[in-house]
Amino acid sequence: MTAFRPLRLLLDGDALVANWRWLAGQSGPAACGAAVKADGYGLGAVEVVRRLANAGCRDFFVATWAEAEELGPLPEGTTLSVLHGVRDEDMALARVLEARPVLNTVQQVNRWQATGRPCDVMIDTGMNRLGLSVQHVADGRLADLTIDTLMSHFACADEDSPLNDRQLQDFVTLAGKTSARRMSIANSAGILLGPQNCLGLTRPGLALYGGEPRPEARGHIVQVAFPQAQIVQRRRVARGDSVGYGATFVATQDTEIAILNIGYADGYLRSFGDSGSCGEGRFPVAGRVSMDLLAIAVDAQPDLHEGDWVAIDYDLPTAARASGLSQYELLTVLGRRFDRIWRQS
Ligand SMILES: *Cc1c(COP(=O)(O)O)cnc(C)c1O
Repeated sequence: MTAFRPLRLLLDGDALVANWRWLAGQSGPAACGAAVKADGYGLGAVEVVRRLANAGCRDFFVATWAEAEELGPLPEGTTLSVLHGVRDEDMALARVLEARPVLNTVQQVNRWQATGRPCDVMIDTGMNRLGLSVQHVADGRLADLTIDTLMSHFACADEDSPLNDRQLQDFVTLAGKTSARRMSIANSAGILLGPQNCLGLTRPGLALYGGEPRPEARGHIVQVAFPQAQIVQRRRVARGDSVGYGATFVATQDTEIAILNIGYADGYLRSFGDSGSCGEGRFPVAGRVSMDLLAIAVDAQPDLHEGDWVAIDYDLPTAARASGLSQYELLTVLGRRFDRIWRQS
């Protein structure tokens, strides 16, 4: 039997595809892929891959082999890359799945070389997170690999930092120095930094899902994920009375309060206490967020009743400013108690 849950994440598949198409346009002649790690940034990677593959996306990225396995069989004509490379523990799975590792270390190179199968390689150009060095290429460490895509990653593409140009310049010196058929450095923000960054392939994540990585995206990237919660109870709170843990909200006049079925255990974190809102700003959060519940002031709406659904304001740039969380965190914290429902189109 299906339990209809009291909270749901409405997902707009047309918006997802429109965002990808816009990013593909901004990528110019470069192919435009999609980062679907962390279960498609919390939306559900299987559905994201299916929809983007239908729209023409060919290159997908996950973090680990467990994520690759969870995706199941890939749509015809698409490929999957595993960003964290390949550990000894992954080799059995890596031999049977269709994905390629993105090799990051000399040990990973040595481990994969013997398979003779294609891979991608990550080059660190200044982020100092993952990747081999430019010097490793000069030293011939990659000579025996069949490389599909040579990759690097920007540290500050969401800012105007001199590091961006320096990373790109160091990376493009490697053109033609490996067996790679193409190069790739740009995430969502990197695409918006300009066409010189797009090279052979771009790898957006955040902007696909409605995030605004740089101001240039404003008006082009649209919201994809819309959380909604049901009203468990509606009550009148008398002037001078308080609401919730810590009694932090005190009614300055008689106030109508609705208690919603969502809380920090669902990823609606306490940083929204007294700063979040519902119904496009009409219903401010009243007091602290509980684990499973949220109080909102609904004076503006007399005919909202127990059992009605309320839209939680979750435009990512705005919600990030309200909560102090990053747009990435806002997507990836949304928990398992949501029904994830794709709008039909
Ligand atoms: C997550 C990730 C991306 C996507 O980044 P966004 O900022 O979400 O666009 C691209 N490349 C790599 C290596 C990543 O880890």
